[in-house]
Order: sequence, then structure tokens, then C-alpha cells
Amino acid sequence: MAYTACMPRKSWLFQLPVLLLGAMLSSATLWAQTTVERPPEPHHGADVVEFLTGAALGFLAHEGGHLVMDLAFDAHPRITGVHFGGVPFFAIDHATISPRREFAVSSAGFWVQEGWNEIMLTRRPDLRHEHAPMAKGALAFNILTSIGYGVVALAKAGPIERDTRGMADSVGVDERAIAAVVMLPAVLDGYRYFRPEMNWAKWASRAAKAGSVLLIVKKPGYGVVQP
Ligand SMILES: [Zn+2]
Repeated sequence: MAYTACMPRKSWLFQLPVLLLGAMLSSATLWAQTTVERPPEPHHGADVVEFLTGAALGFLAHEGGHLVMDLAFDAHPRITGVHFGGVPFFAIDHATISPRREFAVSSAGFWVQEGWNEIMLTRRPDLRHEHAPMAKGALAFNILTSIGYGVVALAKAGPIERDTRGMADSVGVDERAIAAVVMLPAVLDGYRYFRPEMNWAKWASRAAKAGSVLLIVKKPGYGVVQP
């Protein structure tokens, strides 16, 4: 079924448990890489809390990106309750908007993640060797969320309101191409974390991020009514 104007897009938070689990698992990897080169930390429990706080901030920033874009376009965002697998969550609804605006709203969560990672990795290229659990939690969440969304998009699975479908339909491209657009910067940023000296990865990541924003100039897709 085409993505229709009468169906308000919902930025579902249903992925939260999955994403947090993914962030925790990935963080375990990042963590192991870091801690083997350091003496044991005296406050490991506090570090874990900080790490998870960073991941939670990443989640809030992603949703905040959608919300800010909704507000910028006067799309009347509102919080609504939803259920996923019997578990209650909340979602952000908005009014019908033009395809390009829809693309921007759907992309905003990823743009925030990509921008935040860019700032972190540019200012702190040696982040891996720093004692910075919160920053590492945010970075892990940002990377794993994009990869998780990309995997779901490749399978064209998940609810119709998913970000990648909103992006794909609003600019009229296959959702699997959007999967690549979403995953590439994340993979490159993960690589930069481990190999900050690799300049090609830095510039490839920046180019991929710019490309994901420039998609907005593409001819609008189908199924969404122009204003
Ligand atoms: Zn989102």
C-alpha cells in the first residue's frame, strides 16, 4: 500500500527496547576495546550508568530532531499513545505535509545522530582512549540505531510509519537505497572511532552525510499530497 496523505506519520518509539539492547551489546564491544588498554576503573557501575545515560540522550535527540522539524513546518505534532506487542509507548503524530517536508521530518532523527557523531569525532578523534562513558554511550546508540534501522529497511519490515519508509516514499526511491543512505555514515563513523587517523573515512563519512541531506532536492515521490 502506498504511503498516503491521510495516514499521519508516527515516529514510533517501539524500537526503544531493541535499540537500547543493541546499544548495550555494541557498547560492550566498544567498552572491551577500551578497557583492555586501561587499568580497571574504580567506579565501573557509575560508568555503566553514564554510558546508558548517553544512549538515552541519543534516543531523546533522535526524537527531538523529528519534533523540532515538525514544529518548524507547523505540522502540529502531538503525542499519542500506541501499543506495540501489548506494550504501551508513545508516538509523535503530525498533520499532512509536503513530500519534501515529510522527507525532512522522517530524516531528522538520523541527521541529528549524524551531526552529533560528526561533532564528537571531530572534536575528540581519540575518544576511544578517553574515559568518557556518556559520550561513548551516545556514539554507540547513534551508530547502532542507524544500522538497526537500515537492516529493517533492507528487509522492508516493521510498521508502515518507520522513518526509512517515510524517507523512501517522499522522494520516490526504493527503501533499500535509503537503508544504504542511513547505514553508510554510521559504519564509517564506527570505523573512525577505531581508526581516527584514516582521513579517507572522515571525508567519506562527511560526504555520505551531506548526500543524505541533499536527497531532499530530489523530485518528490508518490502517495503524499502536495500542500
Ligand atoms: Zn525516528
